[in-house]
Amino acid sequence: MGGTFDPVHYGHLVTAEAARAEYNLQQVIFVPTGRPPHKEKIEISNAEDRLLMTTLATLTNPYFDVSRADIDRPGLTYTIDTIEDLRRVYGPDATLYFITGADALLEILTWKDAARLVDMCQFIAASRPGYSLSLLEKALGRFFTEKRQAFHLLEVPALAISSTDIRERVRSGRPIQYLLPETVAYYIIKNRLYTRRSA
Ligand code: ATP
Ligand code: MG
Repeated sequence: MGGTFDPVHYGHLVTAEAARAEYNLQQVIFVPTGRPPHKEKIEISNAEDRLLMTTLATLTNPYFDVSRADIDRPGLTYTIDTIEDLRRVYGPDATLYFITGADALLEILTWKDAARLVDMCQFIAASRPGYSLSLLEKALGRFFTEKRQAFHLLEVPALAISSTDIRERVRSGRPIQYLLPETVAYYIIKNRLYTRRSA
């Protein structure tokens, strides 16, 4: 599961656990992005902070793990490179699933080497509020129908939680508890994330 995870929240965790249970996955690997090309203009937190928050959030689930693959790779982060790295680690026989929100998958056509990417892994698209799965089919068109077997649609409890909203809450002093694990909330407060201007 790739993401900026700035910060990681219960939307991510519920989705990951639902995907694991539904598809009987041996492991869910959270891969915080390095520099995402679509967020180049947005200020994102330090990679080590995002990695640590993701580690804290996934600690209690034995199936969850965190990878540094994207943050250690120089340059912009592309999913195709992530999948190639994971393929090298887990070998040719592993079935790789890329877990993503339907909102992110809607943009797959704009991703680097999209056609090659859908041949390299399966996709689990989780629906989140405001994004219907039929929308995905409509938006991706032939791309979706031709590679239909690579896409798996997963309805998760509608959680209207987003990192953007959490960052805004911190900035304006509104509560964030119950939206994300307590340890992550403490990490944010202790390190004054989202309140001070970071470099
Ligand atoms: P931001 O608001 O900064 O974009 P975000 O909440 O969308 O943050 P990301 O790190 O961008 O979180 O998302 C990582 C992945 O998790 C993406 O595939 C995204 O679609 C998915 N995702 C994010 N929030 C939810 C949610 N509440 N339910 C299901 N999937 C989610
Ligand atoms: Mg997002």
